[in-house]
Amino acid sequence: MEVLLNKISESGLDASSVTGEEALAFWDNIRQNVATTHQEKAQCFVISAEFHRELKQIPASINDLKQALNLLSLPEDAALILEVKNNLADRLVENGEFSLALNEYITSSTIAVDNGFIDEYVMSVLGMGNLCDIYGDHFRAIRYYQKIDSIDHAISSRSLRLKYKLYMLACYIYLNRIKEAKELIKECEELSILVSDKVLSGQIHLYQAKIHRSEKNIEKAMLSLSSLQYTSGNIHSAWLASMIRLELACCLTDYGKRHWASWVLERAYRKGDSSSPTLNLKICDALAWLSEEQGNFKSALEYQKQAHQLESELMKKIPIGDLGAAQLRRLSRFELQLKLILSEIENRELKETTETQKHTVAKLQQDVFTDPLTQLHNRRWLDVKLKDLLLHETPFALMVIDIDHFKSINDELSHLVGDKAIVNVSAELAKHFKFKNASCVRFGGEEFLVILEKTELEQARNHAESFRNRIYDFSWQDVLGERGLTISIGVTLHRDGENTQRTFYRADKALYRAKANGRNQVCTE
Ligand code: GH3
Ligand code: MG
Ligand code: MG
Repeated sequence: MEVLLNKISESGLDASSVTGEEALAFWDNIRQNVATTHQEKAQCFVISAEFHRELKQIPASINDLKQALNLLSLPEDAALILEVKNNLADRLVENGEFSLALNEYITSSTIAVDNGFIDEYVMSVLGMGNLCDIYGDHFRAIRYYQKIDSIDHAISSRSLRLKYKLYMLACYIYLNRIKEAKELIKECEELSILVSDKVLSGQIHLYQAKIHRSEKNIEKAMLSLSSLQYTSGNIHSAWLASMIRLELACCLTDYGKRHWASWVLERAYRKGDSSSPTLNLKICDALAWLSEEQGNFKSALEYQKQAHQLESELMKKIPIGDLGAAQLRRLSRFELQLKLILSEIENRELKETTETQKHTVAKLQQDVFTDPLTQLHNRRWLDVKLKDLLLHETPFALMVIDIDHFKSINDELSHLVGDKAIVNVSAELAKHFKFKNASCVRFGGEEFLVILEKTELEQARNHAESFRNRIYDFSWQDVLGERGLTISIGVTLHRDGENTQRTFYRADKALYRAKANGRNQVCTE
């Protein structure tokens, strides 16, 4: 749609400046001269359909939507097809073409399930339930709405979720299941906080009034009705306005003000929202009853006749036979299919989250226990390691390694070169002790520790000696130029039952001796 809008503004036209008949001509022109792809042309028809609807030209609107469908194909246009089909079905309902509407709901439910479109699936199930409601079979309608319960959490549009709950709420009220209605209305109220749709929140007030009235609390019911605000102009608000009048009339009747009730109803009757035969039927029914109560039998009969006519037409037109057990079974199968799709999506997401979490934890652990300059273990890691060795009574040798005259490297060749030297010694250390059941730690500055597990002192000494040679022989030319680099090492064994500080102390003493003896050597203690 965005691409199309860009094309429109590039051609110097302004889609927002047109309304009514002018808009119809505008979008006709866009379809023929600006839109290039099938999808874009279909979108033009969808917009025209909306303008036709605003002009109350429902058959023309239906025709536009059908033309849009003719331009689209599966599977690539699934999303747009579903949008158009659900629109078309709703419009067919408005036009009283219930069988055709049901066909659209049935095909769109299949397409939605095949392509994993949850919201669109919900819309078609709602449509089917609504047909049962129009027929007056609220019990069956609930069975359709309940098909949505198990995928409720996967609905992405909040207003759609609220809408489905409101449909269900209306059923509970009609069936006088007030306890369930009261629970559900609370949920709807919470949901409506996040949905800024006046017609939907208006319905909540309307149903609240109905609940109050069913509990004989007429004043509260009237109060709920009076707090209702709605914008007029669209079809849903016209429906809501009539529903409010009807409810107000019921309250007035219960309040003993039958005259007032008939005024309100007659006004609603005259305003006659022809696109809702169900509503008209309700109004006629109410008027017939009120007229009879007031002894006005002639008009009571008149209203009753009309009500009867409306009702039999509705009965004739609504394909209630196609909304029976077979249809519900089909939806149950779909429900399973969708649950499977959803659980696959959830599993995938869960796996992805666990993987990233695992990765993050591993990364954090590495960061916490690793020296950033050399990638060797750090002192925090050493603490853990030593505790573990003591806990499991693992014998080990401890080696303390210190670079000789390191200060002078820093002073003569810069701190940066000093760092490079440290990095090189570390890399050699890691390589040298790689397969020797050893752990290498940067203890600080230019000092390192090696823990050699399950080793004799002599063996540890030999490893230390060969490492000292390795560093001595290392080609320091690239790093230090003419200068060489040597290390001194102190080695000791951990003794049974002693704490690690004592082991350190001895290794350190050995190191001091190595330094004192002229450096570049290994001493044991
Ligand atoms: P000795 O042979 O007695 O060990 O002499 P030395 O110069 O190595 O003496 P000492 O161990 O006291 O000096 C270590 C110096 O290392 C002091 C400090 O400025 C430097 N140093 C400590 N950490 C770092 C570091 O991360 N990078 C660099 N470039 N220098 C460091
Ligand atoms: Mg030192
Ligand atoms: Mg040193």
